[in-house]
Amino acid sequence: MPQHNAFMLINGKIIYEGSSPSRKEIINPATLEVIGSVSEAGDTEIQLALNAADRAYREWSRLTPARRGEMLHRAASEVRARVDSIARLLTMEQGKPLAEARGEVTSAAQALDYYAEEAQRIVGEVLPTNKDDTRSLVIRQPLGVVAAFVPWNYPVLLAAWKIAPALAAGNSVIVKPASNTPLATGEFVRIIDECLEPKGVINLVLGSGARIGPALISSPVVQKVTLTGSTETGKQIMGLAAPYLKKVSLELGGNCPIIVCRDADLDAAAQGTVYRSFRNMGQVCNAINRVYVDERVAEAFCARVVEKASRLTIGDGLLNPDADLGPMATAEGLEKTRAHLEDAVAKGAKVLYGGRRPENAGPGYFFMPTVLVNVNHQMRVMTEETFGPLAPIMTFSDLEQAVALANDSPYGLVAYVYTASLKTAFYLSEHLQFGTVGVNNVTGGEVAFPYGGWKESGMGVELSHHGLNEYLALKHIRLTLL
Ligand code: NAD
Repeated sequence: MPQHNAFMLINGKIIYEGSSPSRKEIINPATLEVIGSVSEAGDTEIQLALNAADRAYREWSRLTPARRGEMLHRAASEVRARVDSIARLLTMEQGKPLAEARGEVTSAAQALDYYAEEAQRIVGEVLPTNKDDTRSLVIRQPLGVVAAFVPWNYPVLLAAWKIAPALAAGNSVIVKPASNTPLATGEFVRIIDECLEPKGVINLVLGSGARIGPALISSPVVQKVTLTGSTETGKQIMGLAAPYLKKVSLELGGNCPIIVCRDADLDAAAQGTVYRSFRNMGQVCNAINRVYVDERVAEAFCARVVEKASRLTIGDGLLNPDADLGPMATAEGLEKTRAHLEDAVAKGAKVLYGGRRPENAGPGYFFMPTVLVNVNHQMRVMTEETFGPLAPIMTFSDLEQAVALANDSPYGLVAYVYTASLKTAFYLSEHLQFGTVGVNNVTGGEVAFPYGGWKESGMGVELSHHGLNEYLALKHIRLTLL
């Protein structure tokens, strides 16, 4: 197996060896082979990245949005031209099947294109003032250096959702990927860097969040901190940012419900449930974690879910590019999935499908998509984010109860509803305390629409022009006419 050592990118230069002695192996979760290693940034590299980003920001922020947009469009084309090589790295380090990995990289290129255009539509305001001889303009300006922390489940796409709006708005960026998935993101950042001038506008540092986080967040150079990660990490980052009152955007964990009503198209609802519960092995922030079905159609719905789950193909995503599911990305994730399953079964849940390793899948972190019934809100699987392939199904008797069950969570990222009634669709959409509601679909993040969590699922939004505004500050210019 050829080794792929992760690199940092600082001021346009590739750095394989950080000055910290710490080095971690990168494992292919399908084969458990070591495919490379990651060296951690020491104080030297962190300072170099801060200096480079600070210097580059001064020049980059003064370019017109159109000029920045040209460079970002070029970066998008270059990424598209190299989709296959980036996707292979992504499958090797993260486990998702190659076709899914290609889709992720293509969507990341789309985010670059979208924000290349959107930045040319940053609008201000001219408002009436209270004096004859004054005029007031409200403009939006970039913030400065952005520190961006990215998770491992969609490492390239989620990096793009930060890099694209931050750069398009005129900021410079220091990206910190998760240590188990630095390879594809490294390539992605390197290709973007090739297309940008000046160097230092985009930088990448490696290492543990516990070390790199405080070092970047406490620097006076960093003006904005953005994280996609767990709610626990979000709270830590807010704590680190608080003494400096740094601007923070947080895209955090979910515990997403689906409500299947009596009048729903049960085939479509079961298809949506299976897709959104098990895609990427349930390691998605908007994965369906809790299924609530009207008790009058529960049996018919469960049968359909089991039938569709049993048709999913599982395999090593390099050897089976079109497999539906690969392995889980980490041993810890697999352990947590098993722990949630054991807890549920011990408290009375019944396994309708799965619940074990698939046969002949290989040595990696494989697990079968698993369907549970007889579940309740005393079980971890219904109250915590499993981040694994478990679909627990519970019944409800009326819509009011369905809403109460769905909202009974500190999380508020995404909820899904299946119904044939427009009235029910509006009733549920308006009463669900979530940042996104999918009605008769299991929508993912769409680049043109805001995506953000209510309650403990986050702060601020990504995507759309709203997401761009997270990287801009308002300024009032008051003119007295002489
Ligand atoms: P994580 O919180 O463990 O890590 C995310 C990133 O933060 C990593 O790069 C990590 O190294 C870094 N980090 C950790 N501690 C840090 C600290 N103290 N300071 C700065 N950075 C730190 O999350 P993960 O396990 O990589 O990803 C899974 C989580 O991400 C799940 O909870 C999932 O729901 C969430 N997620 C949310 C969204 C969303 O859009 N809301 C999208 C994808 C994933």
